Amino acid sequence: MTPADPTPTERAPTDLAPTGRRPVLSVRGLSVRFLMPAGRRVAAVTDAHFEVAAGECLALVGESGCGKSVLASALLGLLPANAQAAGEAHLGELDLLAADERTLARTVRGRLIGLVPQSPAAHLTPVRTVRSQLEETVGALTGTRGRLAVRVAAEAAATRAAFRADHLDRHPHELSGGLAQRAATALALVGDAPLLLADEPTTGLDRDLVDHTVDELRRHMDTGRRALLMITHDLSAAERIADRVAVMYAGRIVEIADAEAFFGAPGPRHPYSRGLLQALPDRAFTAIPGMPPELGDLPEGCAFAARCERATDACGALPPTTGHLACHHPHVPEDLSA
Ligand code: SF4
Repeated sequence: MTPADPTPTERAPTDLAPTGRRPVLSVRGLSVRFLMPAGRRVAAVTDAHFEVAAGECLALVGESGCGKSVLASALLGLLPANAQAAGEAHLGELDLLAADERTLARTVRGRLIGLVPQSPAAHLTPVRTVRSQLEETVGALTGTRGRLAVRVAAEAAATRAAFRADHLDRHPHELSGGLAQRAATALALVGDAPLLLADEPTTGLDRDLVDHTVDELRRHMDTGRRALLMITHDLSAAERIADRVAVMYAGRIVEIADAEAFFGAPGPRHPYSRGLLQALPDRAFTAIPGMPPELGDLPEGCAFAARCERATDACGALPPTTGHLACHHPHVPEDLSA
């Protein structure tokens, strides 16, 4: 069955707030539908609720195609023309989902949200040096004027991203994967945005570079002033950096948990989250049977039911409520320690 149009759920603002921290981004009932030929609708994101606080890294994890990059595009106002977004996503006073393109281009991208992209090399302009791209971004985002001042600010941004000054006059194709990642990160830092959004920042990097990249991202959270939303399919990277973890499956956030409890004891409570962790090579390395459902043909009840060993008739009939834990029969701590 194809779900009906997005209907954001009302939820008390304090429901998902990390204790004692000021939320930088607050997402309420975010849904995204793609309108396809012949009137088909694809539910890419359904009723997402989460917050990210200053000084906090929230890792949004899940397999490819689960909707996490669509969610990022919705926050940045970069959805394709056949997409419909509903709900709210507040960054300070601004509702990103209600903002017009002019506001998104002038105020949001770069200034309120610094994007560390999935493919840094593709994000950089191939025919221009890193220096000229940084200088242009400094001019556009910071209002710095004067050749020398712009040059100094561009070099400072490169230094913040650990991008060496003697590489600034290189073109993107002359950079290694790690250097391209740092160049893209330097561009993301220029506007001093309160939220960094890193979309699969470790894709294609070897393990050492993955560790280095996430350590650098953590450093850019800037002594608790900046929030980091990291979208990743790499649970090891998430374990290294995240304060909290949000697990996404078939377009829904099914569990939000403290990272220490999630990766350590007592472990995840949602059967899918638990399966994801067990599929890691350094854990039990047990694959989850079956495949995720098509987002254009989601079942009536829980989308994980066909793959879940805890499924009951209730799971097939009723979708579990979205929230910190969207499951009719979650693991309880005693199960997990058994
Ligand atoms: S709601 Fe049911 S089928 Fe879905 S994850 Fe929980 S136990 Fe499994």
